[in-house]
Amino acid sequence: MTMSKIPVVQQFDASADPTPTSPEKTNLLGMSKTELSKFFAELGEKPFRATQVMKWIYQFGVTDFYQMTNLSKKLQEKLDAVATVTPPTVKFKQFSEDGTRKWVFEVAGGSLVETVLIPADDNKQFGRKTLCISSQVGCALDCSFCSTGKQGFERDLSPSEIIGQLWVANQSYMENVPVSERQNMVTNVVMMGMGEPLLNYDPVVASMSLMLDDFGFGLSKRRVTLSTSGVVPKMYDLAKDIDVALAISLHAPNDELRDELVPINKKYPLKELIEAAKSYVYDENPRHKKHVTIEYVMLAGVNDSDEHARQLVALLKDLPSKINLIPFNPFPHAPYGRSSNNRIHAFSNILNNAGFVCTIRQTRGDDIDAACGQLVGQVADRTRRSKQWQEKVAKNQHNQKNNDLSSSTK
Ligand code: SF4
Repeated sequence: MTMSKIPVVQQFDASADPTPTSPEKTNLLGMSKTELSKFFAELGEKPFRATQVMKWIYQFGVTDFYQMTNLSKKLQEKLDAVATVTPPTVKFKQFSEDGTRKWVFEVAGGSLVETVLIPADDNKQFGRKTLCISSQVGCALDCSFCSTGKQGFERDLSPSEIIGQLWVANQSYMENVPVSERQNMVTNVVMMGMGEPLLNYDPVVASMSLMLDDFGFGLSKRRVTLSTSGVVPKMYDLAKDIDVALAISLHAPNDELRDELVPINKKYPLKELIEAAKSYVYDENPRHKKHVTIEYVMLAGVNDSDEHARQLVALLKDLPSKINLIPFNPFPHAPYGRSSNNRIHAFSNILNNAGFVCTIRQTRGDDIDAACGQLVGQVADRTRRSKQWQEKVAKNQHNQKNNDLSSSTK
C-alpha cells in the first residue's frame, strides 16, 4: 500500500461562529416521519406535509421553506416563523485531490466532531462514496490504538447532529446545482467515526432509520453499516430494532490481547461477542446470506503475527464474516507503529487460504489526517484525559532521558 501524500486542493477554515440557534424554533432536521407528522398535526396541517418537507430537506438539500414550492405561501410563512432546518456548523473542511473530504463540525456547546468521506478508488463522479459518521463527542471506551479514545468522552450526539453530517456531505456536492437537478451523492454510510454508536443507541437508530427511509436519504440497508467495539447486549437490541449491516472492531484474536487493545472486552469477552454477532447475522432463510465485517487494525509486532492470523481463523470459523485489515494510521505519541506491507500481506494470505474474504483497506486522505479523531485532536483538545495522557508521555520521556543519562555515566 502506498502512503503517498496527496495534495490538498481545497482547504477552507470557516473559523465560523456556531450556527445561530433559535431556541424558540423547532429544528426539523433529524426528526422521524412520525415526529414530523405530529409536528404538522399540531400546526393544524395534514400529516402528508411531513413527507413533502422530508423530501425537500433530505433529497434536495433545501433548508429555506420559501423554496419548498409545493407548500402554500401561508404554510411557508408559518414554518418560517416556528421551525428551522439547521445542520451542525462546519468549523473546518478539507477536500483532498483523491476525492476524500473531511469536515470538523462544531455542535451545540462548542464540542467538535469529525466526518470523513472516502470515494471508491476510481473517484468517479457517480461512483461509490462512503461517509464515516461520528455518533458521540469523543469516546469513553479508550481503545489503546485510537486517537479519539485519547480525547475522552464529552457527550452523545443528537439525531440532528448525526444525520446533519450526512446532510452536509451530500450538500457539498449540491452547491451551484439547480434544485431540480440535485441528487444525493453519498452511497454508503458507516457509523464508524468518533464514539461507540451502541452507547448512544436511540439517536443512532433514529438517524439510521432516516438514512433508510424512502422520504429521507433512501439508502439500501446493506449500505448502512454500524460498527461496534462489542457492546453485546445492545447488539441483540439492534437485531430487533433495525436491519442494517454490522461491523465489529475486533483488532485482536484472543481475550488477553483484546483486553489490552479494546478494554470493553473485559466486560464482554470474545465468546459473548462472537455469539452476539452470530445471532445478528442468523437468518432462517438461507437465501438471505448475511455476514459481519470484521475490522482489524494492523499494529506492528502487537497483533500481526502468523499465529494471530491462525487464531483469528479459528475464532471466526463459524461466523459468516469478511475481514478488513486496516493499516494503522499513527497519531502523535501513538504507542504503536504500522505493520509493514509484507506483514499485512502475509497475514491476509493466511486468512484468504482459510477461505475468508479478506481486504486490505487503502489508506486515503493522509494529507488531511483522515484517521478517526486526528483532525479534531488538532483543532481542539479539550479533555482532562488527553492532558493526563500527554503528561504521562512527557513523564515517560523524562524518565527515559534520565535512564539514558545515568547509564551513559556509569
Ligand atoms: S476505536 Fe471506537 S470504540 Fe474504541 S475508543 Fe476509538 S472511537 Fe471509541
